[in-house]
Amino acid sequence: MSVWALLVAAGSGERLGEERPKAFVRLGELPLLAESLRRLDESSWIDAIVVAVPAGWEEPAILLAEELSASKVVACVTGGATRPESVRAALAEVPDDALVVLVHDAARPFVSEDVLERVLAPLSEGWEAVVPGLPLADTVKRVDGDRVLETVDRANLVAVQTPQAFLLPTLRAAHAGGAAGATDCASLVEARGVSVKVVPGDAKLLKVTSAADLELVSAWL
Ligand code: C5P
Repeated sequence: MSVWALLVAAGSGERLGEERPKAFVRLGELPLLAESLRRLDESSWIDAIVVAVPAGWEEPAILLAEELSASKVVACVTGGATRPESVRAALAEVPDDALVVLVHDAARPFVSEDVLERVLAPLSEGWEAVVPGLPLADTVKRVDGDRVLETVDRANLVAVQTPQAFLLPTLRAAHAGGAAGATDCASLVEARGVSVKVVPGDAKLLKVTSAADLELVSAWL
């Protein structure tokens, strides 16, 4: 089965408070993007990679792929104003004979071979879409502004991460319609009534959002 990875790295990362886009802030010696790019390129599960970056950052992304000798990178495309638009731009590069597409946030540097196996394996068992998820440790409450409305039973809740794996036609169909407000690809698949499987995620798949997150993942390097 041919597996294409879409590495979405086109976010601005305003919450990090740095001048450059989030995927290009330093993590150790290299841009944040380098860690997930290298891991996907080295993975035995992945055949080809498309990277989506902010406008003007295509050249640095290509140079980074060359520096890392990431030979599976077939295209660096310009992302869009929203995550679904960036996914759509990368998806346009995937040929119709590909079977599986994996979508991963560059903001989650520590993608592992184990989690790749966990999300890809169910696709050979009849599932069309698979996401990694973690149980919630905190008590969860629904609020209206600063007023608590209710406490939600967390037993049936998971925090969903990437990489998310899809059969190519399933992801294409999900992205063919409107995607306003979608924070992941699986929600678009769910909206079409397709069952999505959840497998165990990984605490190390933390999404870098704040400066404190960046410090934490730096310590994990
Ligand atoms: O903003 P957030 O951290 O939730 O974004 C998740 C991932 O989606 C990041 O890797 C980010 O680069 C990517 N993204 C994108 N295009 C956008 C917004 C976010 O590729 N317009």
